[in-house]
Amino acid sequence: MQKIEEYRSFYIETYGCQMNMAESNVLDSEFLKHGFRAAVKPEDADIVILNTCSVRKTAENRIWGRIGFYKHLKTERDLTLIITGCMAERLKEELKKKEPAVDLVIGTNDKIDIIHFLQKDASVSDEYSFASSYYKEGELSTFVPIMNGCNNFCSYCIVPYVRGREISRPVDDIINEIVTLSMKGVKEITLLGQNVNSYAYTSEDGSLVDFPALLKQIIKAVDSITWIRFMSAHPKDFSNELIDLIINEKKICSHVHLPMQSGSSDILKAMNRRYDAEKYYKIVERLRSSSEEITITTDIMVGFPGETEKDLDDTLLMMRDIGLTESYMYYYNPREGTASTSLPGQLSDGVKLERLQRVIDLQKNLTADYKRTTIGKTVTVLCDSISKKNQDEFVGHTEHNDRIVFKKEDNIHIGDILKMTVTEVIGTTLKGEIACPSKP
Ligand code: SF4
Repeated sequence: MQKIEEYRSFYIETYGCQMNMAESNVLDSEFLKHGFRAAVKPEDADIVILNTCSVRKTAENRIWGRIGFYKHLKTERDLTLIITGCMAERLKEELKKKEPAVDLVIGTNDKIDIIHFLQKDASVSDEYSFASSYYKEGELSTFVPIMNGCNNFCSYCIVPYVRGREISRPVDDIINEIVTLSMKGVKEITLLGQNVNSYAYTSEDGSLVDFPALLKQIIKAVDSITWIRFMSAHPKDFSNELIDLIINEKKICSHVHLPMQSGSSDILKAMNRRYDAEKYYKIVERLRSSSEEITITTDIMVGFPGETEKDLDDTLLMMRDIGLTESYMYYYNPREGTASTSLPGQLSDGVKLERLQRVIDLQKNLTADYKRTTIGKTVTVLCDSISKKNQDEFVGHTEHNDRIVFKKEDNIHIGDILKMTVTEVIGTTLKGEIACPSKP
């Protein structure tokens, strides 16, 4: 392997969740800070980092394919291949044994320190280090990690095994980071973690700060952040206090991503989700008790072992009842080492795919219905950039996270928060015009 000072350029490939994407942003900044050059394509890089995901087998298969690609590239030129993230954590040195083209395997806890790892040949750490910032220069919207890991052990999920148990980041670290981000012009933050609403940090004076208390402290400390979002929240930890905060605090967006997974209480029990359909309905009902405007997006898994047609109907019914505006939909894929692999009633891929298609079709209709209801409404918009398709238009997104395009005007600037009226829907994109008065 080359010595670190001989490295010139790097290339990062990212798979899986938002947390991985955010952590790749940090790695990217770290490499640049240490004088490396970002390669435009992998073929030009001296170091390639695959930031992997283990949640689905299909993701791992793709990564094996990429490792094969780099193995071939290594026969032509000098290259250091580093595998990090959940797949690295799951397979550890087995990965290197199976594929000697891999030079380094770095687990999730050490991911952020890859450069130091290369420099010092550091040993594997037992502690997760939170990135100081996921921010990229010029961003208006960014992620702020508040916790890592998960204690829930849903029966299908590998995350607690590869990311470890929950660790909550110190409150002061979080607030200081958000204050710094606001000074750099950031308008929107998404608090990030596997299970944000189980955040619990014990301060030095022994007092416990939970998720609603953290939100209150952030709102109090930082005035210039316009929007606060969070993901992912777990329905079992969704307290009434949190619901009241979402309803009453203007800075917390009226859009909640609340993973339901299934609309059937029997399946939720088999998944070890520790809430039932009734609890999920109640959360949504309470969220909307003061405003029908709160939009809900979700994650849905179909084809879990033992899922019947009736269970699937319950899921479809819940989707309709709630009027989900978007869903991340996927079918059950057994992960080695998780409890659900030994459950009876495993379904064929054919059945799973057919059910997934029904869920996707319904979601398409629900999304289209929702978008139509926005026509004529006044929405709050963050102006993100100039449209790549049409230089005379701006692109932004609404508080409900809908993409919106609108005509460029001299008195509007990127980063402005605007009041707009939705005039039209094109595909899934809204079209708007400035409402009067334009700036809230
Ligand atoms: S809550 Fe369940 S699905 Fe989410 S990360 Fe934890 S174990 Fe996995």
